[in-house]
Amino acid sequence: MVKQVAEGVLINQSEFIQSNTVVVQGRAGVLLIDPGITGDEMVALANDLRELGQPVVAGFSTHPHWDHLLWHAKLGEAPRYGTARCTAAIRDVLSDAGWKARIAEALPPDIADQIPLDLLGLITSLPRETAQIPWDGPGVRIIEHQAHAPGHAALLIEQRGVLVAGDMLSDALIPMLDLNAADPIEDYLTALRLLAGVAGDVDILIPGHGSVGGADQVRARLEQDRAYVNALHDGGVSDDPRIGPSAKHGWEWVSDVHAGQL
Ligand SMILES: [Zn+2]
Repeated sequence: MVKQVAEGVLINQSEFIQSNTVVVQGRAGVLLIDPGITGDEMVALANDLRELGQPVVAGFSTHPHWDHLLWHAKLGEAPRYGTARCTAAIRDVLSDAGWKARIAEALPPDIADQIPLDLLGLITSLPRETAQIPWDGPGVRIIEHQAHAPGHAALLIEQRGVLVAGDMLSDALIPMLDLNAADPIEDYLTALRLLAGVAGDVDILIPGHGSVGGADQVRARLEQDRAYVNALHDGGVSDDPRIGPSAKHGWEWVSDVHAGQL
């Protein structure tokens, strides 16, 4: 069920690690960010949008991990976008004839048969350095960085004071680094600095997984993520309260799936 979190911005939360799909209302329909997880959830979302008289006019995937790349035919045939690096990463995966079996193995076993893979990752590359998502609605600024996954985009909807953080600034999951990158810790700290640079413009924070927060949460989660990553860097032990909940969601599984392995 979609729920409004700011003027013209709604979310639909999955039961799978509180995954948030973001719906942004434009002039002729909506932009859908990270469309959803199970087929039933995406069909329910498509039905909700039809009742609201809001067709999907564009899609966007924040980063090239399966749980942000799904789609359902009932959502229509709008163009779906990702950053150039994100799109290159998923094309690389899809170019392997055995991609479906590989991804199927990585899915959470209890809901694997409910996750439709047919339309996974069929996104169009935006040119490098594209500043805004091309669509007819409130400006959505792309803040690209290399933390968590290649070409990861955080999105700032300036007119609404909303930051869509992708898989950062979560209250449910600890920071998950892109372990395939040359310097994952520095990438993460750089991304946190980028997000801190826009924090003053943010009233509502929507993480890829977890609860929506206000301006105070932006600062608190930036601080919490920075402390966690610094502790990793220093080889120390973190007492981050999210470690327990992350483990409950199958932290080892989540780390595999989110650490660039898809
Ligand atoms: Zn995710």
